[in-house]
Amino acid sequence: MPAYVVGHKIPDSDSIASAIALSYLKTTLGEETLPARLGELSPETLFILDKFGFELPMLKTSYAGEEIYIVDHSDKVQGPDDIDEATILGIIDHHKLGDITTSTPLECWIRPVGCTNTIIKMMYDFHGVAIPKDIAGLMMCAILSDTVIFKSPTCTTADIKCVEALAEIAGIEDFQGLGMDMFKVKSAVEGTPVRDLVMRDFKDFNMNGKKIGIGQLEVIDLAIFDEMKDDLQADIAALKAEGERHSVLLLLTDIMKEGSEVLVASDDSELTLNAYGKATSDGKVWLDGVLSRKKQVVPPLQDSLA
Ligand code: MG
Ligand code: MG
Ligand code: MG
Repeated sequence: MPAYVVGHKIPDSDSIASAIALSYLKTTLGEETLPARLGELSPETLFILDKFGFELPMLKTSYAGEEIYIVDHSDKVQGPDDIDEATILGIIDHHKLGDITTSTPLECWIRPVGCTNTIIKMMYDFHGVAIPKDIAGLMMCAILSDTVIFKSPTCTTADIKCVEALAEIAGIEDFQGLGMDMFKVKSAVEGTPVRDLVMRDFKDFNMNGKKIGIGQLEVIDLAIFDEMKDDLQADIAALKAEGERHSVLLLLTDIMKEGSEVLVASDDSELTLNAYGKATSDGKVWLDGVLSRKKQVVPPLQDSLA
């Protein structure tokens, strides 16, 4: 029976590219492994898969009795619902350490870099396995996406060197241009149902017993949200009630202005004041320089809710 590589719920480009890249590495090393996904893919991820000629990894949500590698998270709430009934062979991740535990020894590659694919490149190098051209392209795009083309404070020298090496393998000269094309695809939100937008890159967190949902939309110009902001706010309020969440935040990130407008629905009217030192006005607040959910949004919030 093959093992599976699977990332987080509401998969992003990193989760999908990681699943494909790691399963190729493991299979090449003699351990038959298949990439899988926990949900539907975003336009950005579909664009990347199409660009390098990949099929969508299989949609598989149940892993009871299976052996799995977890990529791009280590939080139970973000993994398969029956993760406790699976055998976890390994975790490859670049987020805060979550609450997944195991009953057997496992392989762990966790590094504070900008993208899981940067770590997977280290694994290829460690094992001396050559990265195929198409997989290199996929991995490169995942790093450009997660690091917001190197602008995110999560981006490290390792990520930049990794993109340069992968671009060479993939034969791509203008990787910055490809990164911008990717974010243009990501910025095309017109005509998309409001709930789909809110859920496009949405993660739940357990912060000291409180369920907090945080979505993020990264675009090249926030003006595209002008007409739909009221609808987005109404929808995160609905989502908060439906999921019995303490709070729902939606980050509208402007990658050119390098900051985020945060829409907030919360039981706590002083949530952003306590976490980020800025109160909301009309249920929203601009946080200058904030691009990263994992590094700039989650830690202060978690601390303020302790
Ligand atoms: Mg991710
Ligand atoms: Mg990632
Ligand atoms: Mg991201």
